[in-house]
Amino acid sequence: MSYYNTYLKKLNSVCKRKKLDLIEIGRVGFKKEYPIYKIVINPLKKGRVVCFSAGIHGYEIAGPWAVLEFLKKLNVEKLKNKLIIFPVANPSGFDKNIRHNWQRKNLNALFCSKKMPEENKILLNALKNEKVRFFHALHEDVEEKSFYLYNFEKKPEKIYRDIIKLAKKYFPINLAKEIYGDKSVGGLIINRADGSFEDRLFREGTPYSMCTETPGKHSLKKRVELSVVIMEKVIKFINKK
Ligand SMILES: [Zn+2]
Repeated sequence: MSYYNTYLKKLNSVCKRKKLDLIEIGRVGFKKEYPIYKIVINPLKKGRVVCFSAGIHGYEIAGPWAVLEFLKKLNVEKLKNKLIIFPVANPSGFDKNIRHNWQRKNLNALFCSKKMPEENKILLNALKNEKVRFFHALHEDVEEKSFYLYNFEKKPEKIYRDIIKLAKKYFPINLAKEIYGDKSVGGLIINRADGSFEDRLFREGTPYSMCTETPGKHSLKKRVELSVVIMEKVIKFINKK
């Protein structure tokens, strides 16, 4: 069984147990062999929509596995807001354990481009009637031993600094003044207009948008653990606002 199918089997069983619908929103690949899914929890609740997206870089596997663990722990009845989750945004890349998609495209750099890959169109289409209040893309830096994140804000928002504090309990924080050529302060790279999913949604009015980078050089278990607590923190934060 392929890696993606193994994952889907587990995701399916969690969704069944929690009575959540795993909804196919499109198919990609040479033979359209890779379905992309979304999970929508509390679809009828208006306002305060939170969106989690994982696995757009296929080899950053902690995100999809964290979605699975998050769902296992989630108390659906207690959830006050609407939640949209893309468990694996780039299924062909996830399946083959590569960064890019089956056409060797870096999907996350192409959310503001005129010729968008099919995956990006499918994901954006799934959000077209949604007013997302907090967008969280779960990424990993496979070369890193320390944590950092990309965030978007009009004024300094405490939540991102709080997430760094939380991450510090799990991993060292990347305190370099520059990360891949971008200015970084205390583990935050702020408002990088990079044409990513998170950048696009921020430009379109999502007030809170970020991409977390868990350090791939540590154990998967710990990377998943931190990702889950960050997701839980995002939900708590958005309910208090
Ligand atoms: Zn990434």
